Formats: sequence, C-alpha cells, structure tokens
Amino acid sequence: MNNSEKCFQQAKLSIPGGVNSPVRSFSSVKRNPLFIDSAKGAYVFDIDGNEYIDYVGSWGPMILGHNHPKIQEAVINATNKGLSFGAPTKPEITMAELIKKHISSIDKVRMVNSGTEATMSAIRLARGYTGKSKIIKFEGCYHGHVDSLLVKAGSGALTFGKPSSAGIPDDTTKDTLVCQFNDIKSVEQAIKNNENEIAALIIEPVAGNMNCILPKDNFLKKIRELCNLNKIILIFDEVMTGFRVNYKSAQGYYDVQPDLTCLGKIIGGGLPAAAFGGKSEIMDMLAPNGPVYQAGTLSGNPIAMAAGTACLQTLMNEKNFKDLDHKSKSLTSGLLTVANDYKVPFKTSQIGGMFGLFFTNQESISTFKDVNQCNQEHFLKFFNEMLDQGIYLAPSSFEAGFISLAHTQDLIEQTINASETAFKEIAK
Ligand code: PLP
Repeated sequence: MNNSEKCFQQAKLSIPGGVNSPVRSFSSVKRNPLFIDSAKGAYVFDIDGNEYIDYVGSWGPMILGHNHPKIQEAVINATNKGLSFGAPTKPEITMAELIKKHISSIDKVRMVNSGTEATMSAIRLARGYTGKSKIIKFEGCYHGHVDSLLVKAGSGALTFGKPSSAGIPDDTTKDTLVCQFNDIKSVEQAIKNNENEIAALIIEPVAGNMNCILPKDNFLKKIRELCNLNKIILIFDEVMTGFRVNYKSAQGYYDVQPDLTCLGKIIGGGLPAAAFGGKSEIMDMLAPNGPVYQAGTLSGNPIAMAAGTACLQTLMNEKNFKDLDHKSKSLTSGLLTVANDYKVPFKTSQIGGMFGLFFTNQESISTFKDVNQCNQEHFLKFFNEMLDQGIYLAPSSFEAGFISLAHTQDLIEQTINASETAFKEIAK
C-alpha cells in the first residue's frame, strides 16, 4: 500500500468519504485519490514522491501555475500585517477596482468567500431587485451547492449520477426552471409559461461543468434579448470562465453584457475569494444601502485579496491570453491527431485556457444530452493510462481541463506523447 492509499484509509475514518469535496475522491475513475504534498509551476507532487503535469489547476485558480512567486510574496507580505480584521481595508478597494477595470459590466462588486456564495447572493439580489421569485438555470450547468440551484447540476453532481441532491425540500426548488444549453426555444418556452414571474436567468456562458461546451449560434446574445424583453436579470456565472477564457472574460469574448456577474477561482489566486457584481442600480439594493441582506465574517479577507490581486496583476495582459489560447489549442489538436491515428472516436473543444475532451463521434456536442452520450469506458481508460504516465487530468468526464501559463510547449508535447499509450489501449 502506498502513502496515498494509507492516507485515504485514514482520512475515511474522520472525513466523510475521505475528502472535503466529492470529486476529489476519484471514485468515478475507480481508483484511490492521490494525496498531494506540494506543487510548483505546471506540476503537482504526491506524498509518494511522484510528479504529475497538472491539468486540474486546483479546478481553475492556478492560471499562473502553482506557487507563483508573485502570489507567494504578496501573501507573505500580507500575513505580516495580520490575518483578518473584520473591518474595511485598502486591499478590498484595490481588488474591486481591478475587477471593474477588466469587466465593464461591473460598476460595483461585493467580495465573498466561494463561488457558491457568489451565485447564492446574486440570485437573492435579483429576486430582491425584481420582486419576482422564479429563476432559470440550464441542465448541466453548476453554480455551486446552493439549494435552489442544485437542480440538474453539472460537474461533481453529475459525476456521482445525482444531478440533484437529497436534503433539498421540493419547496426550495419549485421556483427553479431548467432549460437546455444552446436551445433558445427551451428558454422562450419557459418564459412564455411563466410570464412576469422570472426574476433571473443564471448561466455559465461557457459551460465548464459538463465538460467544456461553447455557446453557439449567438445563444448568449439571444438570451440577453429575451431577458431585456421580459425584465429578467441576466446573471453570468463566470466563476470558472472569468479571467480564464479571454482577456475580457466570456462576456467580453461573446460581447454580451450581463446585469450581474459571479466570479471566483482566479480572483482568489488559490485562496478562498469570490465576488458578485454588476450595475450600481442593482448592487445598491444590498445591505447596508438596501434591503437585500448579505454578509460574511471573512469576506474580503486581506490575505485572499493580496493573493487575488497579485494573480490578476500578473495575469492581465493580452499576450498571456494569446499564450493560453495557443497552448490549449496545441494540446487539443495534438491529442486529436493521436486519437485519429488510432481511430478512436474523439472530439475536443477549447477557449483560452480551458478545454474539453469528448470520447464520441457525434458531429457536434452542444447540449447536456450530447455530453451524456460520450463513451465513459474510453474516458476511464484514458484517464487511468494518462495518470500512470504522470499526467493529472480531472477525474471526471464532466469536468473541463485547465492549462496555465507554466505549461511549456515541451510539457504539452510530453502530454501528447503520453496519450499514444492511452489511445492505443482504447483502440485494442
Ligand atoms: N460556479 C461555477 C461555474 C463553478 O464552476 C463553481 C465551482 O466549480 C462554482 C460556481 C462554485 O464555486 P465554489 O466551489 O467556490 O463554491
């Protein structure tokens, strides 16, 4: 038994399932999880002394690579001043201004501690602002484990075959309407059936929790028009896509301005920080200005602000985003070539520093139904063969992959070379 296996046994005695977030358990890929000891650049190192090229990146935040010296330095400097004050600080203003500078739909922004808090608060705010109750979400989109949003959710929920959760009273989800991603008719229908009752529509502008599905045929623009016509608050959940897919995030890339935006992952630089923001008129409904209550003991924590600010300041130039885009293109096209060589049905998607791998021969993959038809057995083989060769991919076929600025062309080549064995095994 290796050290990771021993630790997993031990962890299971005192932590439910041995993990603090379900996908980490590796149960869907039928092996024990690796216990990570440290990470640097594009690598993670497990407690057995193995190194892996990492395409999980802590599920998104590690866009600069692990343990980037700029973030490390900022965190150390911040800790010298104290860890938390529960009072306003200058770093919170710096962070808010940075976010506003790069996301033009945001006039005001409130910091929270997780993406879940961001979406939960944005929904409450939209309901408070409009005085309406119903919300629209999309099948396969995940917005954290908010009760009302854990309906036909993606990612971890899908991986465990439970797109919804026990413990959520029907009453809590009765106002959640579920539409199909990339199917504007499903949205039109939901609005028609619930006229003047819908407060908000929340969407991942690029769906990253059912693999990586891009919006097509101006889907986001059409949604924007429908929301305008029906006085529905449009919420872009950019917890994953914000500062990941493009210099201007997904909303800039697709040129669609939401009313509210949720951010997380990258804006914390690896520490717990997230945010929601948007038009002043809506944001000023929040306490203490307005009647919508929202709060947090550690919100805007100075160490998290220091990490997030250093991350954004280092990341934010157009060249870095070209580089990320180039790297994920190079990876996906390389993998596709090898798959074709071995005649394995395979498709890819990518945008900026985010990519998707699909084991399928479907022409186009644009809905949850399409993703669900992909070959799980092939994914399972691929994942395990890659991990055995030191390539750490997300342990679920419903997760997007992430690339960082630390992934060199050499490491990408190494990954593509490793895929030869994996595709060969699948083709057998
Ligand atoms: N929204 C999206 C799009 C996400 O991908 C996630 C997490 O993966 C969340 C919200 C929830 O964020 P957190 O895990 O920080 O609560």
